[in-house]
Amino acid sequence: MSEARRVGVYGGTFDPIHFGHLAIAEEARVALGLHQVLFVPAAHQPLKGAAAGARPEQRLAMVHLACADNPAFVPDDLELRRPPPSYTADTLALLQQRFGPAVELWFVLGADAARDLQRWRRVAAILAIARLAIVGRPGYQLDRDALEAALPAVSGRYVLLDGPGLDLSSTVLRQRLAAGRPVRYLLPETVRRYITEQQLYRSDEPDG
Ligand code: ATP
Ligand code: MG
Repeated sequence: MSEARRVGVYGGTFDPIHFGHLAIAEEARVALGLHQVLFVPAAHQPLKGAAAGARPEQRLAMVHLACADNPAFVPDDLELRRPPPSYTADTLALLQQRFGPAVELWFVLGADAARDLQRWRRVAAILAIARLAIVGRPGYQLDRDALEAALPAVSGRYVLLDGPGLDLSSTVLRQRLAAGRPVRYLLPETVRRYITEQQLYRSDEPDG
């Protein structure tokens, strides 16, 4: 008998996508034997920090570039095709319809996102549809007791994975780009070139 087919669902702003994102998706893929990981850029882009964000189609284009060399990584624009806001519970329900009951869905997220889970819309629906692959992130402690105390419904529906612990964030990349500092070796070279070509994340402040 063959095992259930497992699909990872990895949501994020990806503004821009970086090696921290790719590394935790790969960690979850290998640890859980995921057949594929869908990368799902979120529709709305609240401005974070000083530097302006990329447009949704630019964030999607960067996800495509970043996923190009991993056949198991599949960009998916379903949240961008729907009017915002997109709730994870709705996205997972649509994916459950698409894949059918034979596929086990695993929602991939970092420890910082997991700490906020109990505030997410319809978290019970999320946990009914998908299991969670929670991957460690530097600076964010998460233990089983704290997680299950904050969100009892999560019990038996998640795994905690260590991950490589890359201390990278899109916020820091945007700040570096705005300040003219290097980002090479922090994200795929194809994505870095795209950012340069599209003149993304540049500071609007005039010099001096
Ligand atoms: P921003 O600084 O704009 O919030 P970010 O780097 O946190 O960007 P998001 O798009 O907000 O990236 O995150 C998408 C998902 O990836 C979240 O579940 C987040 O926890 C996870 N994640 C992002 N970076 C890392 C990292 N370096 N290690 C582990 N998880 C990460
Ligand atoms: Mg974030």
